Amino acid sequence: MNTSSKPQIAVIGYGSQGRAHALNLRDSGFDVVVGLRSGGPTEVKALADGFTVKSPAEAAAQADLVAVLTPDMVQKKLYADVLAPSMKQGACLLFAHGLNVHFGMISPRADLDVVLVAPKGPGALVRREYEIGRGVPCIYAIHQDRSGRAEELAKLYAAGLGGARANLIRTTFKEETETDLFGEQAVLCGGASALVQAGFETLVEAGYQPEIAYYEVLHELKLIVDLFYEGGITRMLEFVSETAQYGDFVSGPRVINAETKARMKDILSEIQDGTFIQRWVAEYDAGLPNYKKFQQADLDHPIEKVGKELRAKMQWLQQNGAPQAAAPA
Ligand code: NAD
Ligand code: MG
Ligand code: MG
Ligand code: MG
Ligand code: MG
Repeated sequence: MNTSSKPQIAVIGYGSQGRAHALNLRDSGFDVVVGLRSGGPTEVKALADGFTVKSPAEAAAQADLVAVLTPDMVQKKLYADVLAPSMKQGACLLFAHGLNVHFGMISPRADLDVVLVAPKGPGALVRREYEIGRGVPCIYAIHQDRSGRAEELAKLYAAGLGGARANLIRTTFKEETETDLFGEQAVLCGGASALVQAGFETLVEAGYQPEIAYYEVLHELKLIVDLFYEGGITRMLEFVSETAQYGDFVSGPRVINAETKARMKDILSEIQDGTFIQRWVAEYDAGLPNYKKFQQADLDHPIEKVGKELRAKMQWLQQNGAPQAAAPA
């Protein structure tokens, strides 16, 4: 690679992260090509955004840096079949999540630099913050530094995403992978949705109207989370009533208690020792039978029906396209 110029980047995948990375990097002055399967679901989007779209193999073959932004479960095969045979000698392979490398599903070629740049937010936010001159904090890690420039490349990429404007922290593939999985399972997706569903069920089973229960345990959660985001639990306590604070102090620890924390530790252990990933790979390879059942059960939960009706009355929630805030992943 010409060390005085910016690396030529191939972004493989144009979903939540891929689109945001490609747009931000291009606006930061990088030469970006998008690699997608021809006729795939996001090809039209990448073309409409003005990108040159090539096959993943062609895009990877010409790039100094290949960003793997496809779903985690297809990366093993994508690397083995397409990227490993086509990437330039000495190029840089970049991930936005360390899962495949950390759990040994991908063992990258010895000549490559292998780095991780993970924005701590969904793609839609990574793009929106960049556009208004801000950024989403990024964490980065180095798995393999063949060129001696791996850290510089990871930082250059993170800066191109706008991440350096918010914060840039060095981590390891192990730390990023394990904490990301724990966060989405115990707190962000699994924990939060189970808490909301259980609160809703408790109120409705006690005879309260589902509409009132929905507003109380789901709709109002946004206000609380916005306060956490702006100023931590301190700011939430500043803005709620004394009665709400007292109720928080005495009842919060009855809901989330030492037992709950022990279960969190179990979840973390199963992530760390590979049990979780082993189960998830088996489920994926079997065609997602349980996943589809669990997903359907969430979609069929009564809170979804009442929520749909109530959100239809809030016009500002009726926009199509990218969510204002997409899910953590
Ligand atoms: P996504 O599902 O939104 O998009 C995946 C993209 O890859 C789509 O364009 C899809 O068409 C394409 N694709 C699927 N299979 C392919 C294949 N075999 N070959 C080429 N392209 C293929 O994915 P995402 O949520 O953006 O996740 C991408 C990576 O970013 C993952 O490693 C994920 O863990 C990580 N990540 C995601 C988030 C998030 O909030 N979504 C946050 C941080 C990191
Ligand atoms: Mg759930
Ligand atoms: Mg209230
Ligand atoms: Mg995450
Ligand atoms: Mg994740």
